[in-house]
Amino acid sequence: MRVNSILRLSKEIKKRKERERELEEKTQLLAELNKKLEKVNKKLKVLASKDELTGFANRRLLNQTLKREWKRARRKAASLALIMIDLDYFKEYNDNYGHQAGDKCLQKIAKKFEEFVLRPADLVARYGGEEFVVLLPETGLSGAIKVAERIRTGVESLKLPHQDSQVSDYVTISAGVAIAKPESNNGLEQLIKVADEALYLAKKEGRNQVKAECELIRGVSR
Ligand code: GH3
Ligand code: MG
Ligand code: MG
Repeated sequence: MRVNSILRLSKEIKKRKERERELEEKTQLLAELNKKLEKVNKKLKVLASKDELTGFANRRLLNQTLKREWKRARRKAASLALIMIDLDYFKEYNDNYGHQAGDKCLQKIAKKFEEFVLRPADLVARYGGEEFVVLLPETGLSGAIKVAERIRTGVESLKLPHQDSQVSDYVTISAGVAIAKPESNNGLEQLIKVADEALYLAKKEGRNQVKAECELIRGVSR
């Protein structure tokens, strides 16, 4: 009887140890799966915020960043610059060289941007088809014009042939610069609008140039 009890007990202990080991293995597996899931989630987040063709931020990430930087600039009483960029005569480029070549051209230009936009806080986004936005936190007018001009000359120096451009033998860009010194939480749309107006002026005055609007956008208190 006694021997039987001891045997049962030792079986019971063995079983329990096995269960504990199984549980340990499962916990470890779960932790590994969780790690993998975290990695996939991170990748998904990046994919959801980047433009596939250029690797730049997409509109979604641009809007998020704009809101965050606007608020930060307000808190720090700093300025925030926005450059709106548009390729010149790009419809003609596609018509002449084909849409695939057009895509390649956009990629070549995008690749070069890391040489133009240097600070870690700066953000380059694809705004539309052949339109890009560069957001420069804590940057004033002269700094932003410098960056825009660096982009303009940099694209020109790529010497991507463009037979049908009326302004150059190569692909060029026009850019509009606007500056904000936020004093309220609104005014963001105004910053984009003013940069767009400056870009329109650059186009109107002959393209392949940078135009800036000097007036500071502050936002209005509601
Ligand atoms: P402007 O100098 O006034 O900017 O003239 P534009 O021809 O560049 O401007 P428009 O707005 O008339 O045409 C833009 C063209 O850009 C239309 C389309 O052919 C081309 N485009 C826009 N998005 C893409 C894209 O993702 N890939 C390619 N290949 N072409 C694009
Ligand atoms: Mg355009
Ligand atoms: Mg264009």
